[in-house]
Amino acid sequence: MRCCIGITCSWQEAESRHVLRDDYVKAVSYAGGTPLLIPTLPAEAAGDIYRLCDGLIFSGGDDLDPFFFGEEPQVGLGEINPLRDLFELALAKLALAGTKPVLAICRGLQVVNVAAGGGLYQDLKGFTKAQHNQKAPRWYPAHEVRLDEPSRLFGFLGKKNIRVNSFHHQGINRLGADLTAAGKSRDGLIEALETADPRKWLIGVQWHPECSWEKDADSARIFQFFVDEVKRRKD
Ligand code: MN
Repeated sequence: MRCCIGITCSWQEAESRHVLRDDYVKAVSYAGGTPLLIPTLPAEAAGDIYRLCDGLIFSGGDDLDPFFFGEEPQVGLGEINPLRDLFELALAKLALAGTKPVLAICRGLQVVNVAAGGGLYQDLKGFTKAQHNQKAPRWYPAHEVRLDEPSRLFGFLGKKNIRVNSFHHQGINRLGADLTAAGKSRDGLIEALETADPRKWLIGVQWHPECSWEKDADSARIFQFFVDEVKRRKD
């Protein structure tokens, strides 16, 4: 049985284009799901999109507008995309309230965290000297993440230390309601989060498993566990 996995896209307002890297499409297809690309829409459309999909991926992209976590823009904040923020935050609030599986990647993890009332570092420079925007190839797992032992990720992957790629300059500084940290890099930054509700399945990762699943078994497993869970809940 196939299942329909909605994947949010970037919205390039200046070019009037919805954009998604094929890596996401390939990773979901390979794990046995049917990817469905979700454009940036008015927030009122989030309900229709949520009903249509069996599971959701919140994809990577630009910075979040700090307005949504109660701050003014600071030096170091990158490009923001307010229309994408508004739509994805509406969709993430539905996803947090519902029971459909969610995989949130990089910006996606930040969107879910902010939708749950959490906050972000607008720029990690003041927090860490660790390189979270690697100069290595996109697939290369450049830094370590230590998983918390009771976490779902630890349960799936069966190990405490994994290595991940890293392409972000923002990060979580305050977790949203009903979310728990599932893994941290050595500098103490939260690199993975999960829902604290045992009846739900929501995992967020600050890294990009869609860029590394062909070479890295842990990255492939994350997509496999996600798609298997979507199918299980669809039955
Ligand atoms: Mn990182």
